[in-house]
Amino acid sequence: MIKRQQSDNIPIIKEEALSKIRIAHSTVELEEIYSFYLGRKGILRNFLITIGQFPAAKRPDYARNIHEAIKAIDMAARDKRGQLLLVEIKNKRSSFDITMPGIAVKRGHLHPLTLVERKIEHIFNSMGFGIIEGPEIEDAWHNFDALNIPPDHPARELWDTFWIKSKISGRAGKAPKSKLLLRTHTSPMQIRYMETHQPPFKIIVPGKAYRFEATDASHEFQFNQIEGLMVGEDVSVANFKFVVQAFFEHFFGKEINIRLRASYFPFTEPSFEVDIRCLFCSGRGCSICARSGWLEMGGAGMVHREVFKAVKYDVSRVQGFAFGFGLERLAMMKYKIPDVRLFNSGDIQLSQQF
Ligand SMILES: [Zn+2]
Repeated sequence: MIKRQQSDNIPIIKEEALSKIRIAHSTVELEEIYSFYLGRKGILRNFLITIGQFPAAKRPDYARNIHEAIKAIDMAARDKRGQLLLVEIKNKRSSFDITMPGIAVKRGHLHPLTLVERKIEHIFNSMGFGIIEGPEIEDAWHNFDALNIPPDHPARELWDTFWIKSKISGRAGKAPKSKLLLRTHTSPMQIRYMETHQPPFKIIVPGKAYRFEATDASHEFQFNQIEGLMVGEDVSVANFKFVVQAFFEHFFGKEINIRLRASYFPFTEPSFEVDIRCLFCSGRGCSICARSGWLEMGGAGMVHREVFKAVKYDVSRVQGFAFGFGLERLAMMKYKIPDVRLFNSGDIQLSQQF
């Protein structure tokens, strides 16, 4: 049996519902109130189900009360819903402010080595040099023999080589000319280019090279070189000095002093190391230049006549210079990057700085 106070409760429940609806702040809150009273399992719906259990005499009044309450709550909710929707639409509109600064889309960055390589190519290109690329898997002929490094030559030991397993047998030192390897420098492209071109010409060869050695802050087993080669009838060391000085001044954007030191490479004669006056201390001596005031930038020299003979050039007619600079070293100097291993670390924080 339904308790007596339930019918008395209806006006109270109605007032309670109406006041809650009046102060609802959002359509979401309103829908919660609505379903609490008039939802499928709402309080007043539940009362409707129980009408049959009410004393027959009181039943019509009871039913009328419930229906009136439902009607009043439903009407109030409908009005309130309209008001809240208007406010919400208005708020949504005002939140779309076209004068607000947008959220910046993160863009990709070029790797510092890519930036440096492009800059170098641009500088040499502007001086009339062609840009050539070549295979990273080489044969012993192009990497060693043709560059005046025959199998028995002790200089072959200077390059710790990744040899590639193939059916052609032979120990590293005694390898046949066709044995494959990962090129230890970009110099084999000197041979490949001269085999198919006649002087005069001037080219640079950017590319990867590989040496079988331990890595540390200044050595990687995979690195990038910029090879240079200029051949003609009267190309001299003076031409080299001018070209390389012009390059460094463009590259570093300041006046550069060059020093050539006597050195040895099998494929050049004479050979020299190229130093530049320290960029960081202007020659006074600092930790970066090991107090010497000079920075080693790479090797160079006049192309050895044995190299010209290997590509069947007339050695009485042509001469030229060649050089090889490390791309990583140039990038480290330009951007003051302390460790060569950072380039291959995949650390996005490095490239984001450029
Ligand atoms: Zn210094």
